[in-house]
Amino acid sequence: MTAEELTVRQRIVQEITGTLRSSRQLAELIRVPEREIEDHLTHIVKSVSRDRTRRFVLDPSACQRCGFVFRERSRLRRPSRCPRCRSENISPPRFGIEAPSSPRG
Ligand SMILES: [Zn+2]
Repeated sequence: MTAEELTVRQRIVQEITGTLRSSRQLAELIRVPEREIEDHLTHIVKSVSRDRTRRFVLDPSACQRCGFVFRERSRLRRPSRCPRCRSENISPPRFGIEAPSSPRG
């Protein structure tokens, strides 16, 4: 495996293509701080949105207690508290990239 030769950003793209992962999962997989992952994700969102062949997917945070889903939220970080029940038990947002499996058909 030549993963070491890839940049952190390339590795994140690789790890979320075709699946969904949270920034914590990515931090563990790639072994960089979660804050750094979030930084890279911000740039990845921009570059993927310019790319017509791929689509960035955001699976929003949800309250584990009352089920409130943070649909309005486009930020990449986990909200600290549920606006409905005040629970702090919030699932992290997860990210993915949808890419066609065979771009040339
Ligand atoms: Zn709640």
